[in-house]
Parts: sequence; structure tokens; C-alpha cells
Amino acid sequence: MINIILFGAPGSGKGTQSDKIAKKFELVKISTGDILRECLNDATNPLYSTIKEKYDKGQLVSDDIINQMIVNYIDSSKNNNGYIFDGFPRNIAQGEFLQDYLQKSHNKVDKAILMDIDAGVLIDRIVNRFTCNNCGAIYNSKTKKPTIDNVCDICVGTNFKRRSDDNEETVKKRLTEYKNLTESLINFYEKQGLLITVDANREVDVVTQDLYDIISHI
Ligand code: AMP
Repeated sequence: MINIILFGAPGSGKGTQSDKIAKKFELVKISTGDILRECLNDATNPLYSTIKEKYDKGQLVSDDIINQMIVNYIDSSKNNNGYIFDGFPRNIAQGEFLQDYLQKSHNKVDKAILMDIDAGVLIDRIVNRFTCNNCGAIYNSKTKKPTIDNVCDICVGTNFKRRSDDNEETVKKRLTEYKNLTESLINFYEKQGLLITVDANREVDVVTQDLYDIISHI
């Protein structure tokens, strides 16, 4: 079993790349952002208002809620090949939780890959992104439109949506949360010899190839 963490600033390409990695290496992708968005689609969810309050402000949802989501997800998926974590952990407490949790089943984090990107391009990338409502494929109105206008390349769906937190004001707050909390993971994983940094400023496919090479050598 291999367990890989993909982390980096919002807009660094974690979602796109983790989808590809999951497919290629038959790993289960666990995106805490996706799980939270699913909760926000259901106003009867008991955690709805607690999550919404933080999510809409671009702040981190509490560790207790997130860690429990991870446990539930892993328990229900039971994948022997392993997991690719997208957007989790977001701080050291979550990082420690994951390691303790994996250890209980004699597993471990194999690599923590930092998607390193220049801050200048991020806001522009995020405010232009949208996804297919049906399959979740990620597009960008400036850099990656569907081949046929308004038709998803993957599932030929014709409904698209934008994330409610992909507006300039919330993106700035998410970037501050990243700087204040998530960046501390760089040191955390470096000290354990698990950190690999990938230059995420390059074309998507070039970055993908680097990631495939790294993971093939684990
Ligand atoms: P993402 O889709 O990873 O960009 O996350 C979107 C939002 O979900 C973040 O701005 C946070 O409010 C929340 N979120 C996602 N993952 C986590 C996490 N691991 N810990 C706390 N909050 C999270």
C-alpha cells in the first residue's frame, strides 16, 4: 500500500493532478475539500452550518471534523493499493493525526509532494476555473477550455459550475490560511525525509509526468 500527500497553495493544481494519479496508480483519492462540498450540498447535514461558516470565509474547518471525515472515508473505502490525499493535511495537527492513524494499521505516509507555485499566478488561475457538474473534471476559462464549447471532454456533460469560494476575496483569505498554517508542513515533512518539491508553474502534462516518475520510484 502506498500513501501520498499532495499539498500546495490553492490553485497549484492538486485536484487535477490527484485525479490523474489516482487513475494511473489505482489509488483512492481523498479530497477533504470535495467531501466538504458534498456536505454543503445537503442543508440537512448536522454539520452544514458549522462547515459553511468556515468554508465561505476561506478558513480551515476544525481538525476534529476533518479528521473524523478521513477516518470514515478510509474505513468505508478499504483500498489495498493506497490513497492520494488532496488538501489534507492542512496543518501539523492533521499531519500528526494521519500518521498516528495509518500507523495503527501498520501503514505510513510514503511521500509528501509539495506543488510549488509562484503566488502571482494563483488568483488568476482560481477565479477562472470551473468544473463539470457531472464528473467533476476541472477546466479554466483562460487556459483549459473544453475542446467543444460547453461540452465536457470526459463525460460529454453540459452543466458546469464554479466553486462558491473561488472568488477573489475568499481566495485571498485561503492564501493567507495556506501561508499561516499549511506551509508549516514543508518543514514537518522535510524533517522526516518525506518531502519532495515539484515545480507546479509548468504545463499540466509536464507536472503530471514528474509526479508519475516520483510515484513509480516509491
Ligand atoms: P480545497 O477544495 O482543498 O481548496 O478546500 C476548500 C475549503 O475547504 C478550504 O478553504 C477550507 O475551508 C476547507 N478545507 C478543505 N480541506 C480542509 C482541511 N484539511 N482542513 C480544514 N479545512 C479544509
